[in-house]
Amino acid sequence: MSTTLHVQSPARFHTILKLIVWFALSAFIAFPNVALADACPATPYLPSTDGSQPANLGILKRQLMDYKCFGAYDREVEAALREARVYVETRAVSEQKLAIVLDIDETALSNWSSIAANDFGFIPRGPCPLAAGEPCGFDAWIALKKATAIRPTLELFNAAKAKGVATFFISARREAQRADTVDNLEAEKYRGWTDLLLQQSAGTLSVQQFKTEMRKKIEDQGFTIIANVGDQFSDLAGGHAERAFKVPNPFYFIP
Ligand SMILES: [Mg+2]
Repeated sequence: MSTTLHVQSPARFHTILKLIVWFALSAFIAFPNVALADACPATPYLPSTDGSQPANLGILKRQLMDYKCFGAYDREVEAALREARVYVETRAVSEQKLAIVLDIDETALSNWSSIAANDFGFIPRGPCPLAAGEPCGFDAWIALKKATAIRPTLELFNAAKAKGVATFFISARREAQRADTVDNLEAEKYRGWTDLLLQQSAGTLSVQQFKTEMRKKIEDQGFTIIANVGDQFSDLAGGHAERAFKVPNPFYFIP
């Protein structure tokens, strides 16, 4: 039997249309939050959210591309790291067991190829077929070991070593990614660091809690952390460093 709807008159058509609209509205009224609840947080992310329309995401992405690709990002990274380097070189004159702490991603190493391939989205799993111009899973990207040194950070790292200051990396990369991370750091000329502290895969701490705990652990070894350098505020909050230096990163946010 055919299920084709045959409309025999305008009046009957309007009646059928009203029924369709009524059923559709009834479904929405009965389950008003189903679609929204699946995609939205239970409470606003930001305490200051006032409900006004945010900036257009597509325009923001173009601003980010311009910021990265036409010099402004490099200049601001250079300025932040120059300030850190001057502080470390000035401070490291007498006291023993001084240390600096560096974050890795977008602080010591740049993941720009992956970020651009993903159009500023974060894709944790899946392959990373960059050569095909397709999106890139972050774990697969780390395994490729193609992140590149952020030069002013490498210069700070070498300046600290030259002054006898211990160099620690603290990263939210996983312990299982240690070998690939070490290979990538060494290939990009970060060599002779004091320690590399990574997260356990089953860890329950937030990034900020983990990094703070690791700085305490460094202090427990008798070091004074004179500079903590990172691209996220979660790298820097929590104290346990004389000075914190924020590297620019408007490309992603890690709470
Ligand atoms: Mg980072």
